[in-house]
Amino acid sequence: PFDVLIVGGGPAGAAAAIYTARKGIRTGIVAERFGGQVLDTMGIENFISVSHTEGPKLAAHLEQHVKDYDVDIMNLQRAEKLIPARSEGGLHEVVLANGARVKAKALILSTGARWRQMNVPGEDEYRNKGVAYCPHCDGPLFKGKRVAVIGGGNSGVEAAIDLAGIVAHVTLIEYDSQLRADAVLQRKLASLPNVKILTSAMTTRVNGDGEKVSGLSYKDRNSGTEHDIELEGIFVQIGLVPNTEWLKDAIGLTPRGEIEIDARGETSQPGIFAAGDATTVPYKQIVIAMGAGSTAALSAFDYLIRLPAE
Ligand code: FAD
Repeated sequence: PFDVLIVGGGPAGAAAAIYTARKGIRTGIVAERFGGQVLDTMGIENFISVSHTEGPKLAAHLEQHVKDYDVDIMNLQRAEKLIPARSEGGLHEVVLANGARVKAKALILSTGARWRQMNVPGEDEYRNKGVAYCPHCDGPLFKGKRVAVIGGGNSGVEAAIDLAGIVAHVTLIEYDSQLRADAVLQRKLASLPNVKILTSAMTTRVNGDGEKVSGLSYKDRNSGTEHDIELEGIFVQIGLVPNTEWLKDAIGLTPRGEIEIDARGETSQPGIFAAGDATTVPYKQIVIAMGAGSTAALSAFDYLIRLPAE
């Protein structure tokens, strides 16, 4: 068995692996796709101390750094079930899609999250070419331009307020007849001069010129009429879904499926830690996931040194 098994090979998992390996303890890492969401990212300009990098390049550096240490990397393996230890100090078991059962004294869960998509024509084609999901990451790329934010929940309205301070104009598009964000956010949004709010509007298409986004089409759900808007960017804010379906019966999750952790990264089960976008951590960013992975790793180490000697 491993001392620590990490499930998930994004920034959180990679950081955790480096921290535990540097403690000289037996570390394994299972990842469906090493690199995680970073692989799907183009420009990254908020990875502190690196002015600009690209997702695939950062993902390769993450993997290289992990490989500097004696870590058993099980890439392209999907975890399907977690069986927590029956007694404190016992072995936890992770069942993989290929049937293998991997055991460890401590676990770090870092399976990340995925942005919910609109699933309309053009969305895939223009991803990273005007279609964006992260205002903290990509907002500055649209300085002085026109954008839409899809979704009128808290994250959509927060994104619209944030972007209104950077871009020329924001159109917020909500499918429902009213916004669902907190009242204080809605008041703030309504006070901004360069924001237009459309409710009962269903986005039907992302339009582009073959290279990048040039607009979007939506249907007015009251009148049934179709409209086109010209713009340069579309921020989709209809939900970030944690990759935790496989953990449902094993550890404490919030109603939204986020793994509940404390300040040390510990979950509801002793010896099982978690980090990154899959958890209740308030902001979902690369540097934050790396910090959380390091925290979880140090906590796992603290846990291990307190286990009774075998
Ligand atoms: P992830 O990166 O999601 O990694 C999860 C890992 O777990 C992957 O290896 C995955 O394959 C694996 N996994 C999932 N389920 C299983 C399973 N059942 N079994 C085994 N393995 C599993 N952040 C920034 O700071 N700056 C940016 O510029 C930026 N731009 C972004 C652009 C896009 C398009 C996207 C999608 C995100 C962006 N982010 C950015 C957010 C950033 O990528 C995430 O916050 C970060 O990757 C989270 O790291 P993580 O390790 O928690 O999870």
